[in-house]
Amino acid sequence: MENKPIIIIGAGISGLTLCLTLLKNGYNTLLFEKESEIDQRGAGINISPNGNAILYNLGLKDKITNLASKPTSIELRTFRKGIIVAKQNLNESCEKFFNYPFLQMQRKDIINILKAEIFSINPGVIFTDHTFESYSEKESSILAYFNNQKTIEGSMIVGCDGINSSVRKIMLPESEVRFSGIVAWRGLVDLQKLSKSTREMSTTVWMGRNSHFVHYPIKKNKFLNFIGTIKKEKWEDNSWHQEGTKEELQNDFKGWNKTVIEIISNIEKPNKWGLFERSPLPRWISKRAVIIGDASHPMSPSYGQGANAAMEDSIVLFRSIDESKNNTQQALEKFQRNRKRRSDNLQKSSKFNTSLFHLQNPILKLIIYSGLYILSHLIPFILIKSRWVYKYNAFKVKLK
Ligand SMILES: Cc1cc2nc3c(=O)[nH]c(=O)nc-3n(C[C@H](O)[C@H](O)[C@H](O)COP(=O)(O)OP(=O)(O)OC[C@H]3O[C@@H](n4cnc5c(N)ncnc54)[C@H](O)[C@@H]3O)c2cc1C
Repeated sequence: MENKPIIIIGAGISGLTLCLTLLKNGYNTLLFEKESEIDQRGAGINISPNGNAILYNLGLKDKITNLASKPTSIELRTFRKGIIVAKQNLNESCEKFFNYPFLQMQRKDIINILKAEIFSINPGVIFTDHTFESYSEKESSILAYFNNQKTIEGSMIVGCDGINSSVRKIMLPESEVRFSGIVAWRGLVDLQKLSKSTREMSTTVWMGRNSHFVHYPIKKNKFLNFIGTIKKEKWEDNSWHQEGTKEELQNDFKGWNKTVIEIISNIEKPNKWGLFERSPLPRWISKRAVIIGDASHPMSPSYGQGANAAMEDSIVLFRSIDESKNNTQQALEKFQRNRKRRSDNLQKSSKFNTSLFHLQNPILKLIIYSGLYILSHLIPFILIKSRWVYKYNAFKVKLK
């Protein structure tokens, strides 16, 4: 690749994964983050076999498994009476059929592990307090402009700057994100504060009307992570993330099963997130810039694929760069060609899961829940529904 650095914007999961992979393979790269510290916020995150294929390949198996929880099963339940609609083992199937486990972690633990690995190779490549503002492309390089008046010249810019990506706004100014009509409550509860029966539950999805509530243990079963999504008319302001109150959260899940009520009553500080969406974009690349992760394909959390897809992008982009030698345009086209269809499908499947968990019509509910009940007794449905997602190995998949 050309000698000028590959400029990465954003130190979230995709930016850090890409930076680490490039450094490990001897590439010149610089990463710029707008915050003054690499972001430590966030609650639980799912790392499915396709994500672990990447983290294990990067040599992080022990560091990840030391901090992760490993769910035995997943249960789908009705929101009030708690009737089990479907129950499936998770890890036995994942390790047997997809070679890697299904793990649940705190987002900041993954961020810290990736950051520490980067620092151990070269502590001088990450620059905080650098808000990217715009870029201009030249024949043989690209210039990145930051809010502190700095300009950096590189061979390409990779926008890993999340749902409100500034790189995307320059590349595709007409592509706005819109409020999806769904707000997600997120929080952590000390597992020891909960009753024995709640402590012993593995991943559980409570399916309501226009709402669902998911919880699972994280941090080697020290905390319980929950996400409660609910339909709302509007999102109060332009920020995507706010502190909420316990009363408001209690009100949103009033009348739900006593397990849900117990979890909510033990939360200290719930946060709420407006979920934003955008239809698949026509392209993610320009001459010397590319957007990856949430910047290019934000997805609802109902399939737990946001972080996994972001890491897949990082690895396929690295491989496209590596296989295209000095030709930046060829590398970017190869990346887009190999990732577009899968990411579009992941976006659609995540949206479908939200509708499945939010069913309103009682007859439709009866039909679908009965189908799920029967199917889950016949065959591990993750093998049918999620095979194409979990078996993907970004390091090994053949690139066209
Ligand atoms: C603070 C935070 C907490 C989250 N918590 C959870 C969670 O609990 N559970 C969950 O499932 N998902 C969570 N997510 C979302 C999840 O991380 C992403 O959906 C997924 O990992 C895709 O990652 P990404 O790298 O594309 O973007 P992100 O992880 O969103 O990272 C984007 C990064 O770019 C930086 N950035 C943005 N604009 C600029 C700019 N102009 N210049 C420089 N830097 C910029 C941001 O500060 C951020 O560090 C969280 C995201 C963030 C930012």
